[in-house]
Amino acid sequence: MFSERLIRAGWMIDGSGGRVQKNVLIGIKDRFFQEIRPFPSGEMKPSTFSDLSGCTILPALADAHVHLIMSGTADQDQRKQQLNERFQQVRETISFHLKQLIAHGVLAVRDGGDRKGYTQRYKKSFMDGKESSVCLHVAGKAWHKPGRYGSFVGRALERGTLAAGIMRERNDIDHVKIIQSGMNSLRYFGKESPPQFQLNALREAVEAASRLGLKTMVHANGIVPVQIALEAGCSSIEHGFFMGKQNLNFMAEMQVYWVPTTGTMKAFAEHARGREEERLMALRNLEHQMTQMALARRLGVPIALGTDSGSVGVHHGSALIEELQLLLDAGLSIEEAIKCASYNNASLMGLDQKGLIKKGMQADFIVVKGSPSALPESLKDIFRIHVGERFL
Ligand SMILES: [Zn+2]
Repeated sequence: MFSERLIRAGWMIDGSGGRVQKNVLIGIKDRFFQEIRPFPSGEMKPSTFSDLSGCTILPALADAHVHLIMSGTADQDQRKQQLNERFQQVRETISFHLKQLIAHGVLAVRDGGDRKGYTQRYKKSFMDGKESSVCLHVAGKAWHKPGRYGSFVGRALERGTLAAGIMRERNDIDHVKIIQSGMNSLRYFGKESPPQFQLNALREAVEAASRLGLKTMVHANGIVPVQIALEAGCSSIEHGFFMGKQNLNFMAEMQVYWVPTTGTMKAFAEHARGREEERLMALRNLEHQMTQMALARRLGVPIALGTDSGSVGVHHGSALIEELQLLLDAGLSIEEAIKCASYNNASLMGLDQKGLIKKGMQADFIVVKGSPSALPESLKDIFRIHVGERFL
């Protein structure tokens, strides 16, 4: 069959979770994969294909949870400054972070919100040059209850219901972000904070978002906050620390996405200049989340890989490699871990032509040197990135 571009790959991970395939011929035509089949040895002249037989090809990756206005710096003064910068400065920061993401093969990004809606503003007017190869989905400002956690990624619901607020400010966002609990306690192991919103309010909000064609991502830790978010019909649970087996069972049954952001606790333990007790507590939280991820795999909960980049010690782009490694440490195979960052994330973001190397899907893929056994480390030095009809 005729294809405009033919590539020979030494190894291929297709993003479906299926086994690594060896020695594959990939054909691309008009920005889409046209054919994928075993490389026909002896039949093809070397001049007719690009030879990447020493490389592994995998789908372009996505990060399902970032905060583009913030860097991963652990310096508290710098963090404060970043939160209060003017748009002109923030614009450069976002652009820089998008470039870092691209360099790590991340071509789709789901932002979890910022207090001034600057990421939304950036997307509306300033996606140009190299950054335009990234598919950016924004939440604008997240919603939280007055007096509760969430002011640095959004704003409090000052009047009326959540549903009315969403309807009022629906323009130019790609999903709704609601904060439903506090942060992980760094003093008391597994301490649960009360839910910010009750079931009726949250259900109405999810329904209002859904009428606008928007999914709802809910920040929730602890059994009760997660349970309410799930009963309300949210599309994904963000973080989900200490949510427990019953909630995970429900997520497996209803196929609700979980974005564990496990690396945040590892990074905090490594980088935060806090008290020793806090560092040790972060490590215990990390360990607990690892057991939840292993359980989620056994139960069949769809895991979407998100890093929460912009948190302390969590850097845009490279954090994805850390998060992939944690999935492997929790018992996922490399094929399963890549699926979390490609197909699962694309599905969660509603990108039905992305995330898989398969006939008819968009030809967005990355090339790393060596065999899959070098992953995820080999993502630190990506050989080539292909978007649509060209290599970047
Ligand atoms: Zn976040």
